[in-house]
Amino acid sequence: MNANAPIANDATHTPATGVIIIGAGFAGLAMAMRLRAEGRTDFVILEAADSLGGTWLFNAYPGAACDVPSHLYSLSFALNPDWSRVYSGQAEILSYIQNVASSHGVISHIRFQAAVNRARFDESRGIWEVTTEDGRHFVAPVLVSGCGGLHRPALPNIPGLETFAGPCFHSARWPANAALAGKKVAVIGTGASAVQIVPAIVDEVETLDLFQRTPPWILPRPDRAYTPSERWVNRKVPGAARLRRLAVYWRNETIAVAFVRKPALMAIARAMAVKHIARQVKDPELRRIVTPNYTIGCKRILMSNDYYRALQRPGVRVHTAPISAIEPTGIRTQDGALHAVDALVLATGFQAADNAAPFPILGRGGVSLGDVWQDGAAAYRGTTVSGFPNLFLLVGPNTGLGHSSMIFIIESQVAYVVDALRKMRKQGLRWMDVRRSAQDTWNDEVQTKLANTVWASGCNSWYQNQNGRNTTLWPGFTFGFRWATRRVQLRDYEVA
Ligand code: NAP
Repeated sequence: MNANAPIANDATHTPATGVIIIGAGFAGLAMAMRLRAEGRTDFVILEAADSLGGTWLFNAYPGAACDVPSHLYSLSFALNPDWSRVYSGQAEILSYIQNVASSHGVISHIRFQAAVNRARFDESRGIWEVTTEDGRHFVAPVLVSGCGGLHRPALPNIPGLETFAGPCFHSARWPANAALAGKKVAVIGTGASAVQIVPAIVDEVETLDLFQRTPPWILPRPDRAYTPSERWVNRKVPGAARLRRLAVYWRNETIAVAFVRKPALMAIARAMAVKHIARQVKDPELRRIVTPNYTIGCKRILMSNDYYRALQRPGVRVHTAPISAIEPTGIRTQDGALHAVDALVLATGFQAADNAAPFPILGRGGVSLGDVWQDGAAAYRGTTVSGFPNLFLLVGPNTGLGHSSMIFIIESQVAYVVDALRKMRKQGLRWMDVRRSAQDTWNDEVQTKLANTVWASGCNSWYQNQNGRNTTLWPGFTFGFRWATRRVQLRDYEVA
């Protein structure tokens, strides 16, 4: 069967289609929009939630915003001249995604509340069979995973967590009715999410106990609202919004030099961050507590103008004693103290570094992707995996960034998938499966480059898996990734 041709209905069920996309976040939707641009309508998007938006749907905590400027953190074919700020908030980004999905005609392709629980490649028929938790069944020759890298909350493995008597939730599962006003609240974690949550809730809570394991490096956030005249120019002057985007893009690529080529240049960022602390934190003890002792950039550099100020508000306490247990009424630290709180916010990050999909994916011979990735996720050009024909992973292994917009990476991958589909159609192929040798060569190069980056400077971060292997980040410039994915080289694939 031609990989691009719709296939006949499976006996059990749902109409067959040409491409199954999993996830209706930026990645899955970008894939769908490009398929529409190719004139294709034979695809379905399976989304576990009851609405679209992915990360930007789930991360709706107070203060949620993106730390990549919006003119860059948007789709190249759907620029938004009307961004209200340099760094837009969650609601504005979510509404952008909804508008773009709607105007590109992909919403009718989404099957909501379709949580995939298994995907299996049937070698004899050359098709992917995908089932959902509620028993629906979809089949197509091509499967694209747009599940994202940061969608599975990492709950801390702290004894007694389940015994806590009050409200307790992860930052990415913030309840609409959280009602923290006037409460004694604890926040565990001081990563990108916590740094936004703490200033956003500090004025409404009675007390805020912040549990810091490792302080983050933080730079000032050069945020501001765009003036009406700037927005007018973006809208009316041809090329203005694109020029703004280009300026941000190249500024960020310049910063990448320090991350991936010359980590010594990170000293400049360190000096800025130290100055930021000196300016905003008056108390020498607090200064000491919030000053990290690892190389800046090794963990994600955060941006905030109000986090340090929030830590100095009345009623805020920063704890550095390790947590020993959670009890029904509060948090016990190893120094024996019990910190009584009414509500507990877990800003403890995501299960990222194994890159596994949240359900079994079975390839040729019934082999599971989870087993193949036991020692660490690896793919070819971050997108295809040997033994899993016609499976394309958006935001796959070693595609993440420390310095720029993931949407640029996603669009590069989507173009790669489209090129693969075109080639399969042109050559009448049923499937293509990347050769293990090509995949290994690619990953050897990626890992060699990673060894010289700031991320290998010795800290613990979610970029690495349990073996210390960095399976998440792209060790280069984003234009390097785009170049690498500009076209599919069929010689790197076994085809049928
Ligand atoms: P994160 O960066 O992984 O931070 C998790 C925090 O929880 C860390 O401070 C960690 O301490 C702490 N922690 C984890 N387990 C703990 C435990 N058992 N006991 C005590 N502390 C514990 O997670 P995140 O803040 O959700 O951010 C994840 C990623 O999402 C970011 O790196 C970024 O890529 C993205 N993000 C972006 C934005 C933005 O654009 N502004 C906002 C939010 C998230 P250690 O450091 O010691 O491990």
